[in-house]
Amino acid sequence: MTPRLELKNICKEFAGRQVVSDLSLSVAPGQVTCLLGPSGCGKSTTLRIIAGVEHQTSGEIWVDGKLISGDDVRVPPEGRSIGLMFQDFALFPHLSVAQNVAFGLTGSKADNTPRVGELLERVGLSGFDDKYPHELSGGEQQRVALARALAPRPKIMLMDEPFSGLDDRLRDGIRDQTLSVLKEAGTAVLLVTHEPHEAMRMADEIALMRGGRIVQQGNPYNLYNAPVDKEAAAFFSDIN
Ligand code: ADP
Ligand code: MG
Repeated sequence: MTPRLELKNICKEFAGRQVVSDLSLSVAPGQVTCLLGPSGCGKSTTLRIIAGVEHQTSGEIWVDGKLISGDDVRVPPEGRSIGLMFQDFALFPHLSVAQNVAFGLTGSKADNTPRVGELLERVGLSGFDDKYPHELSGGEQQRVALARALAPRPKIMLMDEPFSGLDDRLRDGIRDQTLSVLKEAGTAVLLVTHEPHEAMRMADEIALMRGGRIVQQGNPYNLYNAPVDKEAAAFFSDIN
């Protein structure tokens, strides 16, 4: 099967320093792949390159078998069918929940109403249409952000530590709910995290990164049970 997203030998230098080195991976539709690694290892830079807001020094990005970024091709961010979620949910404070969810949709309010209703139902927020972000809990805001990111039916969802701003008690519940919404939508997900527990809980596949490189890749149990070296073992050791 053609991967939904494929990165081929991505390299990125800032001022002569290599922060992403020869990174290759692929994500299938409906699959969650985690970029896992400590702060500064190049996770966010990789996501920004895929989103098209930063450009690789070399390497290629393919979506559904089509080259979208390489030496002679550079599809702009808005043409990439990519949804984004970050740690701060960045809802528009002056817009209602329904207006936030509809933000990325073309068409009239009336046209969009059924889609907005369907998305709010999927994230468990039916009836929240007319509320404003300041009236919502952190977890509710996060779910609105998920609905907003899914609204234009992106092929790929890029998530950069989306749960780290949430209360500890809520985090696992919201992780599970987010995962089931994304699986149902069939979106290919690339999730960035520095938390092994989060990667173990959410990923079908984990790419363990260190110093801009993938040092080990496989399903969560492979990485947990057969870490590639002592450093990888230590990284996973506080999970039980
Ligand atoms: P992570 O998300 O894994 O914490 P980042 O991708 O944010 O790591 O950063 C990787 C490295 O690249 C870090 O050393 C960071 O300081 C550096 N870096 C990121 N963006 C820039 C930039 N715009 N200019 C220079 N260096 C950068
Ligand atoms: Mg980061």
